[in-house]
Amino acid sequence: MLLVHGGEAAADAPVLRTGGVPLVPHGFTWPLCRECGGAMQFLAHLPLDIGAVAVFMCQNDPGMCDEWDAFSGGNRALLFTAPLSPAVVPAEGETLLGAVTALSPHAGEPSEELVLGRLGGEPEWWQNDETPACPSCTTPMTFTAQLEEGRDHRTAINFGGGGRGYAFHCGPCGEAAFLWQR
Ligand SMILES: [Zn+2]
Ligand SMILES: [Zn+2]
Repeated sequence: MLLVHGGEAAADAPVLRTGGVPLVPHGFTWPLCRECGGAMQFLAHLPLDIGAVAVFMCQNDPGMCDEWDAFSGGNRALLFTAPLSPAVVPAEGETLLGAVTALSPHAGEPSEELVLGRLGGEPEWWQNDETPACPSCTTPMTFTAQLEEGRDHRTAINFGGGGRGYAFHCGPCGEAAFLWQR
């Protein structure tokens, strides 16, 4: 299902969105970049039947933390299945996007410039198929969603300028992963 701009959303809205604050379970700790140690930027809340995937990526030193790679530690995707509430945002670091944007499913063929992502189905790879293997059970992970950067550079996600992000999960293992290509 293609996703298009669904208007602004509240920062803690339990809807499919980019930006705002993550909705997290009790005991959550905000992900830190393995490369630079800084608090990551929250990119997207992706509700699923089994819970929600939260996507984070380091933006404290853009381009220097291997933030495109699924397992280098410059980004983090988390699958939550417990009850969720808004996270406490760290005081330091590039932690939040400049806008909260709801993403709405769109049936049919919207014009390309309106498309902000895709939910489920098959990923549209920009480069080669890089479907990650689950770190727990090693089977190929389930495609969750893909995200475009957004057109306003002041509020867009940084996928290197025109790139595309891909989120995956493994429900049985409670794992999630994220990468981007351009
Ligand atoms: Zn970093
Ligand atoms: Zn697994």
